[in-house]
Amino acid sequence: MFLYRDVLTRLDEFYDIDDTQIENEVQRFERAVSRVSDDLESLSGRVRKEIDNHLSEVFLAHISIVQDASLKTEVHKEIRDEYVSAGTAVRNVFHRWERRFRSMEANIAVQKGDDIRDLARRLVSSLAGVRGHALEDIPIGSVLVANRLLPSDTVFLARRSASAAILEVGGQGSHAALFAHEIGLPCVSGISKVVEIIPPGEHVLVDADSAEVIVNPDQAQEAGFRAKRKQHEQASQKARYQAHESAVTADGQVIAVLANVGSIEDTQEAVRNGADGIGLYRIERIYLGRQEPPDSASLLGEIQKTLEPVRGQPVYIRLLDIGADKPLPFMESSREANPSLGRRGIRFLLDYPDLLQTQFDALLRLSADFDLHIVVPMVTLPSDMQRVKGLLAESMARAKISRAPKLGAMIETPAAALAAPDIAQYAEFLSFGTNDLTQYTFAADRENAAVDTYFDDTQDVIFRLLKTVHDDVPQVPLSICGELAARPGCTSKILACGINSFSVAPPAIPTIKEAIRQSGAT
Ligand code: PEP
Ligand code: MG
Repeated sequence: MFLYRDVLTRLDEFYDIDDTQIENEVQRFERAVSRVSDDLESLSGRVRKEIDNHLSEVFLAHISIVQDASLKTEVHKEIRDEYVSAGTAVRNVFHRWERRFRSMEANIAVQKGDDIRDLARRLVSSLAGVRGHALEDIPIGSVLVANRLLPSDTVFLARRSASAAILEVGGQGSHAALFAHEIGLPCVSGISKVVEIIPPGEHVLVDADSAEVIVNPDQAQEAGFRAKRKQHEQASQKARYQAHESAVTADGQVIAVLANVGSIEDTQEAVRNGADGIGLYRIERIYLGRQEPPDSASLLGEIQKTLEPVRGQPVYIRLLDIGADKPLPFMESSREANPSLGRRGIRFLLDYPDLLQTQFDALLRLSADFDLHIVVPMVTLPSDMQRVKGLLAESMARAKISRAPKLGAMIETPAAALAAPDIAQYAEFLSFGTNDLTQYTFAADRENAAVDTYFDDTQDVIFRLLKTVHDDVPQVPLSICGELAARPGCTSKILACGINSFSVAPPAIPTIKEAIRQSGAT
């Protein structure tokens, strides 16, 4: 197994020193401060150009914190008086400052506490000369044990290096769990203190279907596990055999099964598994892996690279869906008390029109070569779609493009489901994001394993919402791209709600095609 820890809990930069090392440690600290300041400066310049002035000021503020004279003096003093390394001094001093801020009432002070922690992390990483990301080095075949996987971590988790993951934080609808499904990585989340309980290097078996983890299995457990795995592999091999044929229901309806992707590897796997197109391209990873936002040319380049293997097939690209549990690295400080109910998805983009414009510019150029559908995330009001449609028309006029790509809305809030007829005035298709639809219907945080009982996308109320939309707008094409789409036990019920296009993680395509063939649409 492979233990993944936060850089602030790694031991190599935290040690005691003697008299002779003091000056060296002070110099190392000063050099780290200037490297971090340089990085923040270039980040700020880029954000100013690409997004807006206000956000770029956040990074300038970070520079003034990291260069603050009293903070620096306190770190020097800690090194000299306590005989500790620069890393230990940064950790101790920044921790004291963080606590001071967090003990204050005002929200702004709490945010400052987060900024201080983030800066401590940057300084310690810089002291350790950390260039890459710890997850790039994960040994092949190991079981990853970690507190949590942030979306930005997943950018670095090389496909197929790990054989399974066990996480402390994250419910079954969490983005970490989704990412794991996307790459076919068995994942059990919500196991508290697992990082402390399982010592590094231990032999571990993970059964994600039954959410079971066995540490140091005996012979019988090992044999049972292997037998189950073999059975599982045989069933999926059978489904893969027919994966490249269309999925036709028992009563002759052809149902499209497309893929949810986030990278070129996903698309390649989707093609290998018989995808009928890309039903949801989550472009967040293009943004999450960097310290500055892409311009439209590099965004276009990334999207083209990812979609090249499916040229000619329908592709549904979702506009950047950030906020809530998916903060952008270069927007770390725009935190909210209740982010899931705050400025996420299209709400965020409408507040930062430059960010939206960059995407339209890239997508309009892409639409010349692809059967493009643009999907709008986190729509709640018909006016969200009306405004997006207006901005798209403006971008088209500027680019002198007359043939509009298809524009559609994600239905992932109960309000959107119930307002489908009004939303459909501005949308050519609707796509159910049942992960968020479940979160917002049951008021259960998808990231929080403690409320997993409430987060259940197979409950009847969810199907009632799907059916209501179909009944209200029978002429509008409906698709589904949440995790519910990949549950073969629910395929017939989904079809019965009038949905005729599924989009699932690439490894699930063969199984879902098979489940469709077994169902009779009503
Ligand atoms: C959803 O909410 O169901 C969805 C597909 O979007 P995401 O999981 O990326 O929020
Ligand atoms: Mg969603």
